[in-house]
Amino acid sequence: MKKRSLKERLDKGPVICAEGFLFEIEKRGYMSSGEFVPMVSLDNPEALLNLHRDFQHAGSDIVQAFTYNGHREKMRVIGKEELLEPLNRAALQIAKDVAISPMGEEENLMAGNISNSNIWNQNDKKSQLEVEKMFREMVGWAVDEGADILIGETFYYAEEAYTALKVMKETGLPSVITIAPYGENIMRDGVSILDTCKELEQRGGDVVGMNCHRGPNTMMPYLKEIRKELKCHVAGLPITYRTTDDHPTFFNLPDNNGCSCPSPHETTFPTALDPMQCSRYEIGQFAKEAYDLGINYLGVCCGATPMLIREVAEAVGLKVPASKYRENMENHYMYGKNKRIPKHIKDYRNKA
Ligand SMILES: [Zn+2]
Repeated sequence: MKKRSLKERLDKGPVICAEGFLFEIEKRGYMSSGEFVPMVSLDNPEALLNLHRDFQHAGSDIVQAFTYNGHREKMRVIGKEELLEPLNRAALQIAKDVAISPMGEEENLMAGNISNSNIWNQNDKKSQLEVEKMFREMVGWAVDEGADILIGETFYYAEEAYTALKVMKETGLPSVITIAPYGENIMRDGVSILDTCKELEQRGGDVVGMNCHRGPNTMMPYLKEIRKELKCHVAGLPITYRTTDDHPTFFNLPDNNGCSCPSPHETTFPTALDPMQCSRYEIGQFAKEAYDLGINYLGVCCGATPMLIREVAEAVGLKVPASKYRENMENHYMYGKNKRIPKHIKDYRNKA
């Protein structure tokens, strides 16, 4: 089967993209939380391969190379700058290996990835040039390793997102660009969320939208505006936590669930967010609502698990390999309706 382009796929229906590898690989025990450097591609390549395979099995159409935070500045912070290129190439090669061995008939798309640098300074041209250089070297490695598309994500400065898009577009590959504004609901350089997305479309982004930082509740209102104003394909990939109008992002999300042992850090982010996790049904509901609005590029970011990616895929009408193992309460020993289940067990259901 011919491998269709990203646009061909999006024109026809939903395209699913798993993100959020940082949290998931940390939970699997292969990354230090807080520091968050994706050394896994070098230290435990089989763990990264398994992660991609699990998301592929759950329905992700895109295999995004895990190079988030794998940029020159972060490698300097941990004193391992010499591993920058090997880390990037290893992550890209692992993603490619998975993408070209799909579980269905059609190959997945392998995506190179750049993201927020955390050194961008709106008042310092030097920092901006430094960031542009970091983007260009990573994009270069992605092209070398056969990326089908490029994803620039989690930008909270509008100008940094524009710079990422410019660098991605130089390659001629399709570009996905998503922003992640903080709790003030505006980009840190003062541009509104909607205006940033309009500008990204004007500058040639093939897919424009939002990812990370916000849960379904506090991302959806902006996605609605964006979908209404933009003509290009739109992306929505929230985190999987119950953010609120008072706390629109996961950075300052309080634990209001009767927590008896608070996080040792000043916030529940990033190690004590678990009680604020959305259920699969909330994630499915988000995906369906977004898709009904005409948002075809869907996924979840931090907090993503294969189970939630399957939920996104199924909510928009897809059947994926992991659908085989969708919940089947029919055969539950107490809540099931299977006629073999004894009456005295069924009857106890409300007291259990
Ligand atoms: Zn995220």
